[in-house]
Amino acid sequence: MKFRTLITTAAAITTISSTAVQADEINVYSYRQPELIKPLFDAFTKETGININIAFLKKGLVEKLVAEGNRSPADLVVTVDISRLTAVVNAGVTQPVVSEIINKNIPGEFRDPSGHWFGLTSRARIIYASKERVPDGEVTTYEDLVSTKWKGRLCTRAGTNAYNLALTSSMIAHHGEDETKKWLRGLKKNLARKPSGNDRAQVKAIWAGECDISIGNTYYMKKLLSKKESRAWAESVRIIFPKFENGGTHVNLSGVALTKAAPNKENAIKLMEWLTNETAQEIYAEKNGEYPLRPGSNPSKLVSSWGKLVPDSIPLIQIAKLRPKSLKITEEVGFDQ
Ligand code: FE
Repeated sequence: MKFRTLITTAAAITTISSTAVQADEINVYSYRQPELIKPLFDAFTKETGININIAFLKKGLVEKLVAEGNRSPADLVVTVDISRLTAVVNAGVTQPVVSEIINKNIPGEFRDPSGHWFGLTSRARIIYASKERVPDGEVTTYEDLVSTKWKGRLCTRAGTNAYNLALTSSMIAHHGEDETKKWLRGLKKNLARKPSGNDRAQVKAIWAGECDISIGNTYYMKKLLSKKESRAWAESVRIIFPKFENGGTHVNLSGVALTKAAPNKENAIKLMEWLTNETAQEIYAEKNGEYPLRPGSNPSKLVSSWGKLVPDSIPLIQIAKLRPKSLKITEEVGFDQ
């Protein structure tokens, strides 16, 4: 029964079936873009001979796993955002993994205490500021972003986007729901345009003179710099690591979970462990511009050149739990309208 078109790590189109799963392969459902995980999976395949089939899904990953149940061909879920990771777990479609290797490589605050999900990298949600129009020291905190001096000068993607909801959840954790609602209203007042596009589009808007500051994830700077068409956008801005008034810089995760059905469980765990090792964490750092989580692995020179990241101390689990509240108030203030 063929029911899913997948892209293999060799970038060929293939199909997999739930009844004829080969022992030397792993099937991955991913919200992450192909270019981000392919270099890693290719390196794993080269080293182990185990092929990886990837199904890239824009949405509906959880629903798909639930619908497939124990007939699912998927072994692993790879995604960004703590709320998405916990949503997969909460849907009951994962199983716990006990691994000494992972426990050694990934610090406790970046993995589920019951072993259902593991962080692989982190990224900071920071400010991109026009080199020309924003002097040094003009913005140092997330709370600063509602200052009237930014009126008509701020760009961001949708408030209901996962990355922005996680930031809003952190704001709730620091200041409570009422204060955060005021903060969202203040942000909305400062917008240069209705939220639209991804994080990269906001940097382009700064380059084009539509706004002076934007909110975005760190690794997009690396992506923008590495493409000819976007290099000038990246060069028109610098990165500022804002902090919460009473905390650090908001970070989020990319991570992985083992599905309950996992037909290739042993190999899948092998891949999970491999993704936390020195080689993989270095690829994440160098090729993707993400922050490795493994103690002893360092961010790339480029990422380090942007400044020192002091992560906020609110536990990620708490941020995930606040998602319904942040979504509710984001909609109440009509942020994206
Ligand atoms: Fe992203």
